[in-house]
Amino acid sequence: MTVATVLPAGVSESDVTKAIEAFADALGADAVMTDPEALREFRDPYAYKQSDEWDASAAVSPTTTEQVQAVVRIANEHGVPLWTFGQGRNNTYGGPAPRVRGSVIVNLREMNRILEINEELCYVVVEPGVRWQDLSDALHDAGGRTWPSIPDLGWGSVVGNTLEYGRGYTPYGDHASNVCGMEVVLPDGEVMRTGMGAQTDNQAWHVYQHSYGPSLDKLFMQSNFGIVTRMGVWTMPRPDVYASCWGTWQSEDALEAVVEALRRLMLDGIIRNYPVMGRGIGVFDERPFIDPKDPTWRLRFALYGREQIVDAHWAIVEEELGSIPGVEIGLRRYAGTDRDGPLGHDDKVQCGISEMELMDLFKTPYGEDTGHLDFSPIGPLTGKDVVATYRYMRALYDRHDWPYLGGLLLAPRSVIHITTTFFDPNDEEKTREVYAAYDEMVLELAKINKVPYRTNIHHMDLVGDQLDFNDHIQRRVNERLKDALDPNGILSPGKQGIWPANRR
Ligand SMILES: Cc1cc2nc3c(=O)[nH]c(=O)nc-3n(C[C@H](O)[C@H](O)[C@H](O)COP(=O)(O)OP(=O)(O)OC[C@H]3O[C@@H](n4cnc5c(N)ncnc54)[C@H](O)[C@@H]3O)c2cc1C
Repeated sequence: MTVATVLPAGVSESDVTKAIEAFADALGADAVMTDPEALREFRDPYAYKQSDEWDASAAVSPTTTEQVQAVVRIANEHGVPLWTFGQGRNNTYGGPAPRVRGSVIVNLREMNRILEINEELCYVVVEPGVRWQDLSDALHDAGGRTWPSIPDLGWGSVVGNTLEYGRGYTPYGDHASNVCGMEVVLPDGEVMRTGMGAQTDNQAWHVYQHSYGPSLDKLFMQSNFGIVTRMGVWTMPRPDVYASCWGTWQSEDALEAVVEALRRLMLDGIIRNYPVMGRGIGVFDERPFIDPKDPTWRLRFALYGREQIVDAHWAIVEEELGSIPGVEIGLRRYAGTDRDGPLGHDDKVQCGISEMELMDLFKTPYGEDTGHLDFSPIGPLTGKDVVATYRYMRALYDRHDWPYLGGLLLAPRSVIHITTTFFDPNDEEKTREVYAAYDEMVLELAKINKVPYRTNIHHMDLVGDQLDFNDHIQRRVNERLKDALDPNGILSPGKQGIWPANRR
């Protein structure tokens, strides 16, 4: 086996070598990768291509919870930092790359079993390597009576995406809200089960979301307090009818009115899924496109239920949205059992059919290697705030003469303003310019009291720095938890700006 050539700061070559030998003893040599060429697969695909700034020293591929425990114990023994991923497709947020150079990657792609599908109670239990695509196929094969919620791309892991507060587009699209019961390997190698999993074989583990006492699940989201080795996820009962709906308009007056109407419709339970609207970039139609000059705003949303309900809901949508001057709306209607009918990206993704069309679109600006950096602050869902934030962000892009390409992810009370910059990651100067502009945007948005809901490995500290209430008390509490749970500081140091004592 090749010895690691990249070392984490503060860890000796001999410690890393001993850890790698111990990983191979515990998992088998085939489950440990140290070849620097092979490890390039785990670079951030959207960082400058020649940069070794985020390289790992090794990657290990456990297949069981016991093997994850062994990895964590060995890392503790030798003081070697770990970095976990499910599929490592966290592209634009760092992909598979570790926050600390020289970390050992815990690649969970081989833990890819769907442990349970319960169509009666509408939940599944998955291991961390299961992809959305796998879940979508498995639910279909199991009889199709329940649907998953999937993100725009089906290649990511259910667990990794959910732990990052990822978003899908059915009524179950706020993935973190539909987690029910996890198994977690703690930084000292112990295994814990959350919620009712605290009792051996408790039958409510995946149907009741709370605990006896504090509910700890969210401690493991966007965090470095544990490695999740299984997760219960709620699925949606198949509706009789599914309507994939759209809207278009051009003016900012209409934008404000549409947001107000959508909030009412979502809070009333008429629109139950997570709509997306945007401009300059089309994830909203049968043929996705990028066209910064197109002034049209496009909206997608969906209705679900029995026929009479969908009819009644559409009539209300027509009254509320269709009556706004300049707004056009429409729908395509499918039977819930019709999985061959929905052909376009929007129609598929809003009924839990996984696909990859959007990735092809995102490769058009600079070919196969195209990089893009998403900036995604969160705000309240009011027409005034959405228009003001849109103008504010657009002005930040104007400073660089870059186009505003925006996709806004709506929820009943909040909105994530995602904007995107495309670049060629083979071009070092341009790549660094795009990342520096992101720094600037974080600081500018902080002036209006907004931060991204999620960020990449390059900007985790900067975003954390903006969370300033009471002298950064939230970070200080996270640090107290980190030090108590992970005294050797081995688990994903620096994730979300949370550093263990030995690296602060
Ligand atoms: C074109 C495009 C479209 C996208 N559309 C969407 C979208 O619609 N919705 C959306 O949410 N995202 C979207 N993304 C972002 C991203 O690709 C997805 O969120 C993707 O699912 C994340 O990759 P993953 O699931 O493989 O996560 P991973 O890389 O496996 O995990 C993400 C992070 O979670 C943590 N983690 C992972 N597994 C564990 C574990 N078992 N225990 C503890 N911590 C863990 C790690 O810190 C890791 O870095 C998009 C990206 C692109 C490029």
